[in-house]
Amino acid sequence: MARKKPAPLGPLKFERRDVRAGEIGIEISHCGVCHSDLHQARDDWDNTVWPCIPGHEIVGTVTEVGEGVTRFKVGDRAGVGCMVNSCQQCDQCKMGEEQYCSGPKSCTLTYNGPNKPDGSNTYGGYSTAIAVREEFALTIPEAIDSEHAAPILCAGITTYQPMKYFGLKEGMTLGVAGIGGLGHMAVQIGKALGARVVALTTSSEKKDAIAKLGADAVIDIHDEDAMEENAMTLDLMVNTIPYKHDLNPYLALMKPKSQVAVVGNFLGFDDLDTATMVFQHVGVTGSLIGGIADTQEVLDLCGKHGIRPEIEMIRMDEINTAFERMQEEDVRFRHVIDMASLRDDRDAADKAVKVADPERGEVVG
Ligand SMILES: [Zn+2]
Ligand SMILES: [Zn+2]
Repeated sequence: MARKKPAPLGPLKFERRDVRAGEIGIEISHCGVCHSDLHQARDDWDNTVWPCIPGHEIVGTVTEVGEGVTRFKVGDRAGVGCMVNSCQQCDQCKMGEEQYCSGPKSCTLTYNGPNKPDGSNTYGGYSTAIAVREEFALTIPEAIDSEHAAPILCAGITTYQPMKYFGLKEGMTLGVAGIGGLGHMAVQIGKALGARVVALTTSSEKKDAIAKLGADAVIDIHDEDAMEENAMTLDLMVNTIPYKHDLNPYLALMKPKSQVAVVGNFLGFDDLDTATMVFQHVGVTGSLIGGIADTQEVLDLCGKHGIRPEIEMIRMDEINTAFERMQEEDVRFRHVIDMASLRDDRDAADKAVKVADPERGEVVG
C-alpha cells in the first residue's frame, strides 16, 4: 500500500465551534494515545483528511452545557471516546451499537469526521477543548482518576465488546493476542468477567509485566512447546495486533466452534489457513469499538473491579517521540497526554496539535 511519508505533529491554533443545544463543552485534561492515532496521522488507511487532529480517549471537565442537557452540569467530569454523533434512529443505533449506524448519516468519528451534514472535518482530543452532544459523553466513575479513565474509552471498550458479545464468563478461556494498549486492558477485563486468561506475546521480555496484570498464563508465540501444549484450548481470542500478521499460529490454539475477534487490524492477514478454520470450526470475526451504553458499562466495570490501564504520562510536545516508541513497541502500555501541557505553552484560545500533509508541502513545528 502506498504510504505518505510520516510527518511530525506540530501545533495549530483553531477555534472549536460553539456549544449547541443538547451538547456539552469540555475542557480536556487528558487524552490517551491510541495506535489508531498513529495510523491515521501517517495515513496508513489512505483516508486521512488534513489537517488531522487525532485523539479519541478524552477526559475533561464540563465547562458549558447547552439548552436541554440533563445528564451533565458544569464542573462534572466527562469522557468522549471514538464517536461524537450518529443518526440515533436506525436499528443499530436503537440497539445501542451506534458504531455500526447504518442511517443515512452513519456515525461520526471523533476525529477525521466527517461532520454531518456539512462534511466538515472533526478534530480530536489532542486539543484543549471539545463540544459533544450529551448522548455521546460518558460519566467517569468517581473511583477512577482522569488519566486512568482516558484509555478505557477506546482500549477498554474495544476489547470488552467482543467478550460481551460472545458471552465470556467463568469456565471459559480467553486468549489475548498482542499485549499493548488494548491487550493489557483485555487481560484485566477478561479476569474481571471470571475467565481464565492466556496472554500471547511476541516479546518474551514483557512476560513478567504481563503476568502481573493477572494473566493465568503468558505464552511467547515463538515457543513451539508452549504453543503445542495449549493447542485447541481457547474459547475466544481477542486479537489486538494492529498490523498485518500471520494469524495461523493463533488459530491452532482455538477450541472447536470458537471465535477469533479481530479488533485493531484493518490491513489483512498473511495467508490465512482456512483448513484450520474448517477442521476446527473456528470463526474469524471483527469487532469495532463498542456502543455508548457498553462504553459506560466497561467504565463502571473498571471502577468496580479496580481495573486500571498502565500509563505513562507525557507532555503534548513529547507526542512525536511517543509515536516512534509506539511504532517500535517500546510502550508499556499506554501513553496519556497531560493536556495542561498544551495550555501552559501557549496563549489563550483553543489549541491543538495537527499533522502536516507532506504532499501539500505543509510544514509544522
Ligand atoms: Zn483508539
Ligand atoms: Zn444510526
